[in-house]
Amino acid sequence: QVIFMNNEFVKKEDAKISVYDHGFLYGDGVFEGIRSYNGNVFRLEEHLERLYDSAKSVMLQIPYTPEELTNLVVETLKKNNLKDAYIRLVVSRGVGNLGLDPLSCAQPNVIIIAESLSLFPKALYETGIEIVSVATRRSRSDVLSPKVKSLNYLNNILVKIEANLAGVPEALMLNDQGYVAEGSADNIFIVRKNKLLTPPGYVGALEGITRNAIMEVAAQKGYDIQEAVFTRHDVYVADEVFLTGTAAEVIAVVKVDGRVIGEGKPGPVTNDLLASFRELVQEDGVK
Ligand code: PLP
Repeated sequence: QVIFMNNEFVKKEDAKISVYDHGFLYGDGVFEGIRSYNGNVFRLEEHLERLYDSAKSVMLQIPYTPEELTNLVVETLKKNNLKDAYIRLVVSRGVGNLGLDPLSCAQPNVIIIAESLSLFPKALYETGIEIVSVATRRSRSDVLSPKVKSLNYLNNILVKIEANLAGVPEALMLNDQGYVAEGSADNIFIVRKNKLLTPPGYVGALEGITRNAIMEVAAQKGYDIQEAVFTRHDVYVADEVFLTGTAAEVIAVVKVDGRVIGEGKPGPVTNDLLASFRELVQEDGVK
């Protein structure tokens, strides 16, 4: 396996970063998780747009153009002989001194890792998963917008730890007002009487690229789909619930906080959208 690191490809064992990198010392940096299917990098343009937006928001200058990064992502896949892969693109503030001031960091570190990864075992896509809502909240009043995919993911990690403690694969994060926001690294949709709802960005959810793709696909298929603010109650009484994300793809949720959702198995709308998503990713993407 080779990893792209600052203008060269290096072996996995040699891909090392200084302990003075502010990405390590302070979580100062931004990232994207991207996926390729059958050699097509899914929605790479959108991922790069979000990366540059995140970087702009935290005043981090990415030392490549989007075209260069596009080529580097594709090259990383090719060099690793990967067609179906999870790609991690990281831009950290770079090496500085121990103080937090980014002015001491001369040059960002840019890293691209590609490998095979599946977040959930295959069987869970057939059965659906159980989730719980957790105490960790998504704060909408933070100065750093939840739209920024920064290297500081402790909030999301706390969500995952709470999921682990509850013995379930994923959890539901509410915002500081108690409205449903998202999972640890995925967006949520609920279906009630054939109407699909997903929380808007301002609730505190990342506007996921998979989420947006599913919204497009659902609209094309004639589903009534809307952004809406909702509570856990609405999730409990939904006919179907599913999560979307680059790593999670589309996965049904069949139990939330002990309440069985619908019939307790992936519902027809979720299955229909999962099938359409699987078709879409095979054909849509940067080669
Ligand atoms: N929410 C958070 C906090 C995430 O980190 C992610 C993963 O990127 C998502 C949602 C899902 O977004 P996407 O579909 O773009 O992967």
